[in-house]
Amino acid sequence: MSGKQFEQCSICNEFNKKKIDDLYSLQMKEIYEACNVKSRILYEDELFWVIPSLGPVSECHLLILPKAHTYSFALLSEEQLIKAERLIKRICNIVNKVYGSSVVFEHGTLNEKMHSSASCNHAHMHVVSCDKSIIPFLEKDGLQLRRVGKLSELKEQLKRGAPYFYYSDNTLDSFIMDDTIQESQYMRILMANVLQAPEKGNWKTNFGCTEIVAMIHKMKKEFNEAQLIEEKAELVQKLNE
Ligand SMILES: [Zn+2]
Ligand SMILES: [Zn+2]
Repeated sequence: MSGKQFEQCSICNEFNKKKIDDLYSLQMKEIYEACNVKSRILYEDELFWVIPSLGPVSECHLLILPKAHTYSFALLSEEQLIKAERLIKRICNIVNKVYGSSVVFEHGTLNEKMHSSASCNHAHMHVVSCDKSIIPFLEKDGLQLRRVGKLSELKEQLKRGAPYFYYSDNTLDSFIMDDTIQESQYMRILMANVLQAPEKGNWKTNFGCTEIVAMIHKMKKEFNEAQLIEEKAELVQKLNE
């Protein structure tokens, strides 16, 4: 990755503390002060951050991000994808415990120039509290759903050379489909419609500060506990090495 790309990425800028993107700084300040936190990172391990999404489409809307800048999860290594899958399951368990149920999706792109539905070029997996499936709507929009067993099967998309959507729902079925739609924020806008809150679809016009603050307050304890358990497990692993 070139220095220029890094500078242009608002995620890298925000979480590597180089600078806070001007577009978000004021809104973030409000959230940080209300929650008494210094950043919106709810959880982290050696490879990933978990943060509340801007413009949550549901009561709980999180993003899982690789710390190293890359365009999508399909571009992670096999080993990283195994760790990502484990983390996604843990995060869903936490969301399910607090909010009842969750779905997972990604707007995936393979390089900077590829036209896709991703509105942010730093890879991010969405986890949304939701008890509905959007599969019928995806099919209605003409998307060809291919069932995947493991998250590492996302790598097959590299051979297809096309942008993609990843979707996993409450039935624990996971799918990948070529992104033939290529409309910015497609999955989250669809999700907001299914949840009967279409006004929440576009995060750029609906920042959702109040909802983010409520989510952080509600989830902080759960994530602190999860973080402690993870740190303890890492320590035991290191002692055993
Ligand atoms: Zn980045
Ligand atoms: Zn997205």
